[in-house]
Amino acid sequence: PRLFVETDLGSGARLPLDRAQANYLLTVLRRKPEDMILVFNGRDGEWRARLDPTGRKSADLVLEERTRTQPKSSDLHYLFAPLKSARLDYLAQKAVEMGAGTIRPVFTRYTQGERINAERLRANAIEAAEQCGILAIPDLPEAVRLPAALADLAPERLLVFCDEDAPVSDPIAALRGAADPAAPPPLAVLVGPEGGFALDERALIAARPNTVALSLGPRILRADTAAVAVLALVQAVLGD
Ligand code: SAM
Repeated sequence: PRLFVETDLGSGARLPLDRAQANYLLTVLRRKPEDMILVFNGRDGEWRARLDPTGRKSADLVLEERTRTQPKSSDLHYLFAPLKSARLDYLAQKAVEMGAGTIRPVFTRYTQGERINAERLRANAIEAAEQCGILAIPDLPEAVRLPAALADLAPERLLVFCDEDAPVSDPIAALRGAADPAAPPPLAVLVGPEGGFALDERALIAARPNTVALSLGPRILRADTAAVAVLALVQAVLGD
């Protein structure tokens, strides 16, 4: 298993596990001292560690050697209109698995729910990072309304706006027409809420230079389906 920790990592370091981590490793996964545990903190790469039980339900991790150096983090921004909590958990995990390096909730007119539980979002991002093997936790900037989210995007960042009303054309050609695959710009994708974008929101998005409205085909996808599809497509065509 792979475990995210906040502390610095170095050879021989001894990391006391908190109760939840000890319970997860010792009781849920029933790991034994000789089992290999992989540890990362988002800065110092990945380390192999061994479990050193210090009690029936407590243990330390003793770092042995670095197994991977810290890779460059993803610069792909994923902007999304929040969904209801359980679906939001799912959406956050898929965005991490699909390579988003920054994940930002964006409140729009038809967004369900006006509150984001930042702690819960981070816990989902950490769980997904541990599961999918990336060595960094995506940036999770605070949730904002749509105008602020657009204003915060650097002008050179290409915004791929998932638009179910865009003419159904070849999405690969559309992306290649918006940026040079040989020298791809920094990227952001935007997926709307279950209720779609309001007309004035569409106008605001369309008014932003360096934005491409992308159809993901003739069917209306659920927001989480659209997220997985567009994150895969954008990286396949314009990934660095
Ligand atoms: N207008 C939709 C409807 O009639 O049900 C509601 C929005 S859809 C459920 C949620 C979001 O997923 C949309 O705002 C859009 O960003 C994205 N999406 C869904 N289907 C899409 C498609 N075929 N092409 C591009 N984006 C799509």
